[in-house]
Amino acid sequence: MSASALEISPVQRYLDELHQQLLGVVAGEVASYIPELTRSDPGWLGLALVTVDGHVYQVGDSRQPFTIQSISKALTYGIALEDRGLEHVVSKVGVEPSGEAFNSISLEPDTGRPVNPMINAGAIAVTGMIEGPPEGGPLQRILETFARYTGHPHEVDESVYRSESETGHRNRAIAHLLYGHGILDTSPETALDAYFQQCSILVTARDLAMMGACLANNGVNPVTGVVALKSQFTEKVLSVMSTCGMYDYSGAWIFDVGMPAKSGVGGGIMAVLPGQFGLGVFSPPLDEKGNSVRGIEACKRLSRDFSLHLFNVARSTSASIVRKVFDSARFGSRRGRNAREMELLSRLGQRVRIFELQGELLFGNTESVALEILSGLDGTDFVIVDLKRVVSADRASTRMFADLWTQLAGGNKHLFFTGCGHLYRFKKYFRDHQDVHQEPAWFEFGDTDHAVEWCEDCLLAEVEFTTESGDCQSELCHQYLCSGMSSGELRTLRDAGDARTFPSGSHVVRTGDPADSLYFILEGQVDVVVKTDDGHHLRVNTLGKGTAFGEMALIEKMQRTADVVAVSHTVCVEVIFSRIPEPIRTKMLVNLAGYLAGKLVRDTELVRHLG
Ligand code: GLN
Repeated sequence: MSASALEISPVQRYLDELHQQLLGVVAGEVASYIPELTRSDPGWLGLALVTVDGHVYQVGDSRQPFTIQSISKALTYGIALEDRGLEHVVSKVGVEPSGEAFNSISLEPDTGRPVNPMINAGAIAVTGMIEGPPEGGPLQRILETFARYTGHPHEVDESVYRSESETGHRNRAIAHLLYGHGILDTSPETALDAYFQQCSILVTARDLAMMGACLANNGVNPVTGVVALKSQFTEKVLSVMSTCGMYDYSGAWIFDVGMPAKSGVGGGIMAVLPGQFGLGVFSPPLDEKGNSVRGIEACKRLSRDFSLHLFNVARSTSASIVRKVFDSARFGSRRGRNAREMELLSRLGQRVRIFELQGELLFGNTESVALEILSGLDGTDFVIVDLKRVVSADRASTRMFADLWTQLAGGNKHLFFTGCGHLYRFKKYFRDHQDVHQEPAWFEFGDTDHAVEWCEDCLLAEVEFTTESGDCQSELCHQYLCSGMSSGELRTLRDAGDARTFPSGSHVVRTGDPADSLYFILEGQVDVVVKTDDGHHLRVNTLGKGTAFGEMALIEKMQRTADVVAVSHTVCVEVIFSRIPEPIRTKMLVNLAGYLAGKLVRDTELVRHLG
């Protein structure tokens, strides 16, 4: 196999093969009731598939233009919904399958309302609802919409249009009946003229696939990002395509193929697998119901070979979206803590639970996450839901989380969502629906580390409040490096050091400086910052009162490996190593070894967690 052949996608290979197979299918007749359509070549066969990621696959006569005919009905239905609103449109045209031919005169006996918008009667009424701009009228509105669906301008095949207009007596009769019943919003001739023109717009199989991909993609063109149809109407258009798109073959179609589709007597079929792709097929010979014979066969085979039926869906369980669940006793924030704080948080941290989610949040999988959160609420005061790896949250999941938030806020528990900067609709829904006020807000923290740090601070503040302070004889007594030292030793150590003060924003040490001392923080706060390989400054740690930095150099003298910057007015004791008396130095090394051993255990745990 040559290198270029190796790179061909399995989808392209499949379509190539399908195209070959379909060339052998010879049945059906090219439509002749519109005289001009008989000029089509019965041998034309084009296939195209466009995914919601915007990948285009095509084979055969996929670029051969032909008239869109009835496929336009699905698209003009969308336009009427946008322009006139659901209520108006449904009051004039029903949504029941007729089980009758496309050109049947299926009107409700009492109201004269056409039963659905996919038969001619319904489509003519729908087109009559489209006004368009004063200069261009309905056709301009229709052409502009088609262009949004396909990404390029379209034109009318004048000879097909004239041919149908001259011979379309049955459609003319239908339009007058509609007018008589008060269904048409405009004169019969205006509606008919726009209808004949819309049916004669030229498209290709590739265009149909792209149109289908827009419908599969909530109305958004996956290549251009342009909105072709508002998402709330996309589901309506797909609904009538599912039940009525293939005329009197619609029931068997959705049963066998399981994809909403629309066919036209020009030989085109547009099929949609919602959320996945659009398919366009073009082959002029039709069966007796007016559907392309090879078009139907192509959809049937594709659906069968890949099990693509609409109702054959992947289960969405919590297993697919819960990446990790842990508490902050297991993995605390990166904030440096002193010995007493570390000890407290190793117990209290269980009251902060973190849920890392991933993938697509839907009704089904969010429901089980909500249950999991609720079932663990006993002994939990803070819940953090990390959405950094979530690609989308549908309306159902968003609503469920918003309700959960309100519920927890009512029970005096905090629920934070982190990493949701990219989930625009999720945030908007919360803003629009949340009237309970919580400080800090549910979205306050950009990342989980900061949210955990805030929760830890709350836990510590509670405890500090309830225990008497003043059990400490010296400024250094909470330093883990000093644990086990007598008050005499603490005093000696303190006297060996120098008090140093750093204004907010100033550097305490810089990367590469010689490391011959350590710092005990008495007051204030510092950030430990490293420069990443791509030149960004990354905060690796924040240290406050009662913690130390620079102590690693006790083991081996080296250079500073990070910048340390005061983030508020900071007071430290700097102790030069050479001034520390030997017995004290030994105690510090033992404490350091204990700290490092603990850190190694936690890091191993972290590796296990990540792996
Ligand atoms: N313009 C055609 C008609 O009204 C459209 C029919 C179709 O494609 N089924 O007869």
